[in-house]
Amino acid sequence: MKTAKITEVFFSLQGEGPYVGTGHVFVRFAGCNIKCRYCDTQKQRYKEYDVKALIFKVKNLLSEHKAGYLSLTGGEPLLQAEFIFDFLKKARLKKTCVYLETNGILYDNFRMVLGLMDVVSLDIKLPSAAKTKAFWAEHREFLKLCIGKKVFAKAVITVSTVNEDIRKLVRMLKEIDKTIPLIIQPDFNGMGQKLVNKAMRFQKYALQYLTDVRVIPQVHRFLNIR
Ligand code: SF4
Repeated sequence: MKTAKITEVFFSLQGEGPYVGTGHVFVRFAGCNIKCRYCDTQKQRYKEYDVKALIFKVKNLLSEHKAGYLSLTGGEPLLQAEFIFDFLKKARLKKTCVYLETNGILYDNFRMVLGLMDVVSLDIKLPSAAKTKAFWAEHREFLKLCIGKKVFAKAVITVSTVNEDIRKLVRMLKEIDKTIPLIIQPDFNGMGQKLVNKAMRFQKYALQYLTDVRVIPQVHRFLNIR
C-alpha cells in the first residue's frame, strides 16, 4: 500500500485507559469496518499520506513535544495494516512506544504488524452498548494473539449495557488470561450518577474473576482537548 487515508496527525494527552495523561503523537486513520452508535470519528475528512511524509510529520511532533508514545488510532487502523507495516519498518522509532488502538476484530491484519506494536488497547464491542452485532469470536482470536504483549481490554458502557454482555466479556478474559487489565469506560455523552453506579457495579462483579478492573472515563473530554 503506497498511501494511507489519515484524518489527522497531532500531539495530545492520552485521554483513555491506563496510560491516561501521557503525551502521545496520534495518527488517526480514516475508515472503520463497523459502525458503533457512540462513534464520534466516522464523518471526518481525510488526507492521503505516503510513508515518507508521515515519517517526517510524526518525527517532528515527537521531537517537538518530547512525546514517548505514538498512537495508531482511528477509525480502525488495521484496515490499513500494510501501510502501517511499511511506515513502522522505515520509521525506526527506537525510543518511542508504539501504541495501537483497535476494535479488536481484524485479527488477520493484526498478525502482519503484531511484532511492531508495544502496547495494544483492545476496544471490546458490547452489542448492547455499541448497537452492533456481537464480535466475541473475533475478540477472542485477537486477544489470544496478544498474549505476552502489553495489552488491555477496554469496554465502553452506556445506560443500555446489559449484565449478560459483561458476563460474556469477563468469562472470555478469564479464560484467556485473567491478568489482562479491563477498563470500563462510561460513555461520556450519557455520563451521570446512574451510569457511574452501573460502572462500579460491573467493576465489583468483574473483580470476582479478574485481577485488574478499573473505571476510567474519557479524561480528554473533561479537559476539553482532542
Ligand atoms: S470501532 Fe471505533 S471508529 Fe469504528 S465505529 Fe466503533 S467507535 Fe467508531
